[in-house]
Order: sequence, then C-alpha cells, then structure tokens
Amino acid sequence: MYRSHTCGELRLTDVKKEVTLAGWVQTVRKFGSITFIDIRDRYGITQLLFSESLNAQLDANPLGREFVLQVKGTVNERSNKNANIATGEIEITVTEFSILNKSVVPPFTIQDDTDGGDDLRMKYRYLDLRRNAVKKNLELRYSVNRSARNYLHENSFMDIETPFLIKSTPEGARDFVVPSRMNPGQFYALPQSPQTFKQLLMVSGYDRYYQIVKCFRDEDLRADRQPEFTQIDCEMSFVEQEDILNMFEGLIKRIFKDVKNIDYTEKVERMTWEDAMWNYGNDKPDIRFDIKLLNLKKPSTVFTNKTDNASLINGVDFKVFDEAETVIAISIPGASEYTRKQTDELTEWVKRPQIGMKGLVFIKVNTDGTYKSSVDKFYSEDKLKAIATAANAKPGDLILILAGTEEKTRKATSDLRMYMADKSGLRKSDEYKLLWVLDFPLFEYAEEDNRWVARHHPFTSPKPDQIDVMINNDPVIKDAANYLAHPYANIKANAYDMVLNGNEIGGGSIRIFQKELQEKMFAALGMDKEEQQHKFGFLLGAFEYGAPPHGGLAFGFDRLCAILGGSESIRDFIAFPKNNSGRDVMLDAPSTIDDKQFDELQIKLDLK
Ligand code: ASP
Repeated sequence: MYRSHTCGELRLTDVKKEVTLAGWVQTVRKFGSITFIDIRDRYGITQLLFSESLNAQLDANPLGREFVLQVKGTVNERSNKNANIATGEIEITVTEFSILNKSVVPPFTIQDDTDGGDDLRMKYRYLDLRRNAVKKNLELRYSVNRSARNYLHENSFMDIETPFLIKSTPEGARDFVVPSRMNPGQFYALPQSPQTFKQLLMVSGYDRYYQIVKCFRDEDLRADRQPEFTQIDCEMSFVEQEDILNMFEGLIKRIFKDVKNIDYTEKVERMTWEDAMWNYGNDKPDIRFDIKLLNLKKPSTVFTNKTDNASLINGVDFKVFDEAETVIAISIPGASEYTRKQTDELTEWVKRPQIGMKGLVFIKVNTDGTYKSSVDKFYSEDKLKAIATAANAKPGDLILILAGTEEKTRKATSDLRMYMADKSGLRKSDEYKLLWVLDFPLFEYAEEDNRWVARHHPFTSPKPDQIDVMINNDPVIKDAANYLAHPYANIKANAYDMVLNGNEIGGGSIRIFQKELQEKMFAALGMDKEEQQHKFGFLLGAFEYGAPPHGGLAFGFDRLCAILGGSESIRDFIAFPKNNSGRDVMLDAPSTIDDKQFDELQIKLDLK
C-alpha cells in the first residue's frame, strides 16, 4: 500500500494514528538536529517531522524539491499551528521514509506566486499543473462539467459522440484539415462544431442531445481564443425559441448554484440585437452598470425603428459633429471632477490605434448646476444642458462624446464605456448578470462578393413570420450600393446569444428544417445547386425524411469556466493550452513530419 491517507486529509481527530503518506516534497527546512518537510499532493499539504534518529539516513539520501516521497509515521498535534492550511494543526512524526523517485531542480517554484514566466510554465505545463492556482481552475472546470451533465441528464438529454474526422462544417472560420492515407489526395476536416451532426440526430429522433465536445477553428488567435476549444453543445426537437431560452437559462442557473452557490433566481433579462447595438454599441453588453449610449447622430440604416437626437447638436456650425457620420455620447457617473490632465489622458486613450478616434469632446455637469465643456465656444449652456438631460446625466457626471464613421464610433464608444466602468469600479467581479440578446439579423452583407453571408450559420431559421420574405424574394443583390433596400437586409433570425457580464458565453438558433428553405438559404449565400449537393447533400437528403422542427445552442465551456473563476484568460482553465501563435510549446507542436509519413500519404511538400 503506497498510502493510507492523502496529504490533505489528517486532522486533530487523527492524532496517534499510524499513517502512510506519499507525495511530492514541497520544502525541506532543517532546524538544528531536526528536519521539517512539507509533503504535497492534489489534496493538500502536510508537515512531516524527521527527528534526529533519521539524520544519518537523510544524509545518505538527501531530499530535494519535488522528490516523490513515502513516509510512515504517527500523527501528532503541532505546537506551532498553521491556520492557513487544513492540516495545520497536526504533523507526522516520521518513523520510516523511502524515496519513490528523485527530481531534478524544477525550472520554477511550484507555489502560488511562482517565479516562472508564462513561457516557462507552458513548456513545463506538467509542473505548472502541480500548482494550487492551476489545480483550482481545473477543479472548477470539472465542477462546471459535472453540474452541466447532471442538469442535462435530469432533463432527458443524451450524450452522443459525433466524429472528429468529417467534412467541412462552415461556422465562419477556417477548417483544420487532415490528409487521408486510405484515400490519397483527400482530406478530412476537423469539426468547427458538431452542428450538422446534432441536427441529423434530431432527424433520427434523439430529441434531446448534448455533448461536452472539442471544436476546432483555424483562426488567428486573440488573447481569449484557442484553436481547439470546448463547447457544451445541445440540440432539442419540437421546440420554439422560448423553450430553448427557458431550458438553458435553467442550465446556467444550475451551474451558478452548484459551482458558486449563487441563487440566480431572477428571470434573465432579454434585449433585441437592435436595442443592444443602439443602447450599448455592442451585441454583448455588460449590463451590470447602467450607462447607455445617447445617439446624437444618426440612426444607422440597420436600426429600423430608432430616431436620433441630432437636433441637440445641429445648427451651431461645429464641423467635427456636422461632418461626422455618427456622434455618440455617454455619461459617466461621478466623474465631473476629472482634471484637465485626466481628460487629456482619456483623449489619448481614444486616439490609440486600437480605438482609432480623432478626439474626444467632454461636458462636465458640475455639482453646482453649471456646465463646462471642451466645446463651450460652440454650445451655449442651454444647449449643453439639453444634451446632458438627454444623456441622463446627473450633477457630478462627465459626458464623453465621440464622433466619426458609424461602425468605428459605435465600437469606440462601447469600448470607452467599458473602460470608464472599469476605472469607476462599476464592473464588480463578484456580481453576475445574465442577458439574452435576441433577433439578430439573419444576414450580413459581404461587400467583396456582393452577396449575403449567414450571421450565425447557414442552418439558422428566419423568424417564422419572415420565412415568406425569404422564399418569395430573389436573394441576388442587383443594386450593390443600395443593398440595404433588399428585402433580405431586414430579415431577423430566430437566433439568441447568452451574455454574461459583457461576454458571449453561448449562442444558438432555431434551425431550418424544411428542405426548400434550406436550399434558398444556401442559394442566398451564393451556392449553386451543385455546390449545395457537394457540401450539404447529406443534410438536404435527411430533410426529405421527416425532419422535426428543432433548435439548440452551444456554450463556450472554457470561457464560462474562466468567468466563473474570475479570470480573463481561458488558457488558465485548460490543462494543456496552446499559446497565442497556436503552438503547444511543451510538445513543440505543430512540427514537421517524417518523409515516411509523407510517402504513406502520397503527399509531396512544396511550400509556397
Ligand atoms: N454550432 C453553433 C456554434 O458553434 C451553436 C449552435 O448554433 O448551436 O456557434
């Protein structure tokens, strides 16, 4: 028997017990003739006391950090208790020990505040994973996993595996491809998600499917992306959007309860995509704080039912606003005391290339009822007051206004909103606010090809009352300059995203299940009949055999874990992640392969 207890288990109630422990040497401290050693495993850390009688043996077998050690001994009450660790009231008086394996000196210290930099820790990830901080993240990940499985199982969902070696499933990213040895010159694609398989399972009658599954997307990596990542992927039959929203609101609430012991009892707020874009400049707004955009000019054509407040800024011959396509203001609570230096810093912030604005206009709504702005030359106090009222600004607030081209300005204002909220401490790490964003546009316009692209994916259904608009109109865009006048431009999708604290944590849609409508969708995306058959013949075929109405969604599992763990980075929650260049620095992958492997694949490498 290697061990009778773990290194995190023993307490005062175990005093006098004879025990055997095994684990890794955390520290060795010699005090005169006695030696203290902390021994660590996944469960915790225990202090070992080696008395003088073991010195000769210790001298002959010196112990170092990360040695694998087995000890036998007696549990005793400690005189010098450590309240910071669970086993801090006891220690083991060692009677025998044996070194199960040695370790070379680790490249960084295995403790919470390690001296190892990111690259080093990734290269020796198996050592990094011994650290408490990383272990906690993986434990949290496992508890999210268990919670999701329990909920889905209790609701009759069935976990069904789908293949990884498949044919391309377009979800808007590039595929990873795998050459087939048995079919020379042909390639599999790795799934960007199991999308078409889960739909086929619905056709097969498995009306509630789920899988916690790897997805592969060959994208340029941003900080919070990984080329392979995990989704909680779900699909249901005989459901409408409302059924899906309720079921998966339930899932997330259950995870909150099981993992964080949070009772999220209130109904999850809902917002249309248009409202999200109009009020927050963003389709995944953080609604923990109530700062909304004031659109001073002009409603974009994508907003069908919004009017701006242009009258508030027009007529004073202020060229910056007059010449801008869009002008948007936000009011920051309690920031009117910002100094010149601080407003200058904000101006520099919006001018950074990532934000890309030319400047920033501010209006201070002073607590004494006066106004001070960077545009006093143009705007009278009455006009400033009118803007402040429209922006919902209170005395003591600071109004920030950006002007420029539509998309850039909207995004910049949204970024500024988050930046200011961070500065003002409005994004509290222990507060969670969920949101459903609904009614996304079904299509986006692709200027290069003068055609439509699916905003979510090509299997997403239009809103039921807009199916006819899709069926009865020709998707071809005859007048490119006027593409917004095309009836397809305003079709809304039966799609939904779940947002948590400003992060999209999941998304899905009610699917097309009628063959004709699916063909129409493919045609709108520029696929002729032949291409449709080549790429999706299997799905169109399946839709001929009684496909039920269905819909589903997928949660980004890594990101959900990161948010629940209070981290920005999904990498911290993945056992063996890739770096920002998509490399596994521990394996040194990707790498070249042997000539023999090329020969077997009948492939000759000729890099361009
Ligand atoms: N397959 C979709 C995705 O990966 C999710 C869904 O529509 O269910 O985003």
